[in-house]
Amino acid sequence: MSATLGTLLSRLEPTWKIAIYERLGDVARESSDPWNNAGTGHAALCELNYTPERPDGTIDIANAVKVNEQFQVSRQFWSYLVSEGLLPEPSRFINPVPHMSFVWGADNVAYLKKRFEALEGHPLFPGLEYSEDAEVIRSWAPLLIPGRRKDQPIAATRILSGTDVDFGALTRTLIDGLVENGATLKLNHRVTGLKRSTKTGLWTIRMKHDVGSTPVEVQARFVFVGAGGGALNLLQRSGIREIRGYGGFPISGQFLRTDDPELVKRHSAKVYGKASVGAPPMSVPHLDTRVVDGQASLLFGPYAGFSTKYLKHGSLFDLFGALRWHNLFTFIGAGFKNLSLVTYLISEVLTTPKRRFRALQQFAPTAKQEDWRLITAGQRVQIMKKDANGKAVIQFGTEVVAGADGTIAGLLGASPGASTAVPIMLDVLARCFPDRLEGWTPQLTEMIPSYGGTLSQDAKSAKKALTRTAKALRIQA
Ligand SMILES: Cc1cc2nc3c(=O)[nH]c(=O)nc-3n(C[C@H](O)[C@H](O)[C@H](O)COP(=O)(O)OP(=O)(O)OC[C@H]3O[C@@H](n4cnc5c(N)ncnc54)[C@H](O)[C@@H]3O)c2cc1C
Repeated sequence: MSATLGTLLSRLEPTWKIAIYERLGDVARESSDPWNNAGTGHAALCELNYTPERPDGTIDIANAVKVNEQFQVSRQFWSYLVSEGLLPEPSRFINPVPHMSFVWGADNVAYLKKRFEALEGHPLFPGLEYSEDAEVIRSWAPLLIPGRRKDQPIAATRILSGTDVDFGALTRTLIDGLVENGATLKLNHRVTGLKRSTKTGLWTIRMKHDVGSTPVEVQARFVFVGAGGGALNLLQRSGIREIRGYGGFPISGQFLRTDDPELVKRHSAKVYGKASVGAPPMSVPHLDTRVVDGQASLLFGPYAGFSTKYLKHGSLFDLFGALRWHNLFTFIGAGFKNLSLVTYLISEVLTTPKRRFRALQQFAPTAKQEDWRLITAGQRVQIMKKDANGKAVIQFGTEVVAGADGTIAGLLGASPGASTAVPIMLDVLARCFPDRLEGWTPQLTEMIPSYGGTLSQDAKSAKKALTRTAKALRIQA
């Protein structure tokens, strides 16, 4: 997120000084590290949680269209950066991997068919295919069929324009580009406090260097708290009113991974299923091709769990450190209202390796335990807040929290995440620099031709954008 915002600002205001402070010994070692996330270019092509069934049985596609639209904004910006030589050969960070949804059971099959019918022909979902035929599905993803009961109703959709994104490689290249253009990067610097002077309007950022906890202080006109799971705590320390009432519900993740070349050869897709009852939307199980450093592997998961850490390399006290008088009600209320989620997470934590493996075998019935190993992914800190009616809720999305004067902003939440970093950072620009936006518009439009508009309402522009960015990023149109 910070790398994206920095890159946008460095194009819009080349004379501004940018400084990046990172607590670890390298950038992109938390959620953006390729093995800490699933690398799905989230465009709602296959993720069923974006297309819920309404009580009347029809399918609501509004969220899917919104997420796809956001991903197109990211695709346009990345295409611009590739064309400017600011991003490398695209296969180093983005690769074409078909996106599939796969379900079993009569009700799920009926749902998937309706979802297909609702999206078929939409300008942002061209080429979506549907099948209930085991042979067709086997030709799309050979691991899904062998060993499966023949009388089990199954169905799948496939779209070839799906992608796998290495957000770690992307982040590192963007940060390298920023440093080459004069930004400073200080690693092993943990931000511990933020205070704004009422006299000068400047923020003083307090840090500790990892070696010897040496204190460091710097000043800035504008601060972006791009600390991932650590953002809530730092925004609280900044003292801005806007963060009052917010809490964070941490959900940890694990994946099964195999690098076995024989298995990897037999599966080239991201296959998303349906979430179990009580599971949070981002815990939808999926069997994925992952491409990291030019090497393909398979990933299955995520298995959600509960840990009180807000960062993978964080502290078990993170959650308790976020408790304040103003958010105590939010924590308690949201916890009670989401008891099914809590029960689900506890059951996931207590699950046995054998039961965990059975979830993979529901996708690939002939999978063998010895071919797969368990890896720990990043932490996702879900937003807890009061809704419009004052009721405490857990919100499964992202939210920019900005100070009223626009001198500070931070990002809370997790999904759809890195795929939508560009539109989220455009939101930061709009919230924090409203006076400059008009002047920036020509350049923003050059970088992101659909800036300020929507593609879903305009089939011709959508086709043009999809074709152009697919060519630039060497992915399927
Ligand atoms: C299991 C899992 C699966 C996911 N799958 C996907 C997916 O398939 N597709 C997708 O688009 N998104 C996915 N996401 C979400 C995506 O990974 C995140 O949205 C994205 O990486 C967040 O980027 P960020 O820059 O906000 O945070 P991060 O990448 O976590 O970066 C925050 C940085 O801030 C640093 N930091 C924290 N505190 C401090 C401090 N006090 N001082 C200095 N530095 C600090 C951290 O060390 C870190 O480097 C997934 C996430 C998880 C956990």
